[in-house]
Amino acid sequence: MKKPTFPERKFSERKPSVPELTEKEHPGQAPSEPNLSVNALPASDFSESDGAEKDFPGQEFSAREDREEKNKILPATLYLVATPIGNLDDITLRALKVLRECDFIAAEDTRVTGKLLSFFGLSKPMVSYEEHSKRTAGQTVLRRLLAGQSCALVTDAGTPGISDPGENLVRLCFENGLKVVPVPGPCAAVAALTVSGLPTRRFVFEGFLEGKQNQKRARLEELSSETRTVLFYEAPHRIAETVALMAEILGPDRRAVFCREITKRNEEFFLLPLGEACRRFEKEPARGEYVIVLEGRKEASDAFWASLSVKEHVDYYTEKMGLDRMAAIKVVAKDRGVPKNEIYRALLEK
Ligand code: SAM
Repeated sequence: MKKPTFPERKFSERKPSVPELTEKEHPGQAPSEPNLSVNALPASDFSESDGAEKDFPGQEFSAREDREEKNKILPATLYLVATPIGNLDDITLRALKVLRECDFIAAEDTRVTGKLLSFFGLSKPMVSYEEHSKRTAGQTVLRRLLAGQSCALVTDAGTPGISDPGENLVRLCFENGLKVVPVPGPCAAVAALTVSGLPTRRFVFEGFLEGKQNQKRARLEELSSETRTVLFYEAPHRIAETVALMAEILGPDRRAVFCREITKRNEEFFLLPLGEACRRFEKEPARGEYVIVLEGRKEASDAFWASLSVKEHVDYYTEKMGLDRMAAIKVVAKDRGVPKNEIYRALLEK
């Protein structure tokens, strides 16, 4: 049988049109000269808004006055404002408006958000809202919201609430009857998923694998039979270790797309079987931020071994892939999503 091959894929490296901040200067964003102005908004006066909405179901092409009314900053409201994950041109016009007009900003790191604001010529009172202070900071934000102020919640980069403490603040607002409004925009997971080339119709967002090694291992074991595409976030200094664990638990042939420094100067996407990815990260430590987009387990009917008996399947790994018998049995059990005992039993049966 022909050994399956997984050519490494590298998309062309895109050079963003705007200069970027180095990672040292700013972990999440990459400022350059601001070249966006809300005043430069196209007038887009689709005054027949009813008809236009029918023609363009995804958008509300309405008159400028209607849009202004709709986008008014409301009192006693928390706005979840997505910010760029590297390329400042990804800020949205609506995000700029909310940041400019809200009463105050709750920021994961006020220094990072301070740089973002000054890049866009904005200035606003800020409070810190981050993982370690989320209880007390949450109460501060809540008091001000209950007093009628509007607040924009931002993180260092991306969409608040995705793998950051934003979700706690949203819950607090709902518990206190406050309005929460999304201001959507960049999100590393969505950008990675859509560019990965892996199935996007159904997917699972796992975020960071949490806890000690045995907890991560248990979580990966639970995910090993997942057939949907799985998205992971990981810190650069832990990528090698995490990928090694994935290769061990999910098998060296399971493929993943590694999405590095999305929207930044060194943006790179590569598809590799986990075993090869391990070797790559051992040789060359990961640098920059990564999203790992893991291919789901093949449905049994699509798998290369679907037509093989258990014995032929084990032989494939021993004879063609050079594994010893124990290792081959382990991988076969993983492929088939069954316990190893079942493979031993099948091998004993005639
Ligand atoms: N809320 C953010 C979002 O919407 O994407 C995610 C915050 S989470 C604390 C940070 C993780 O997101 C990083 O460790 C990395 O896995 C991923 N990430 C953020 N920016 C990225 C980028 N430009 N390229 C690749 N991964 C990125």
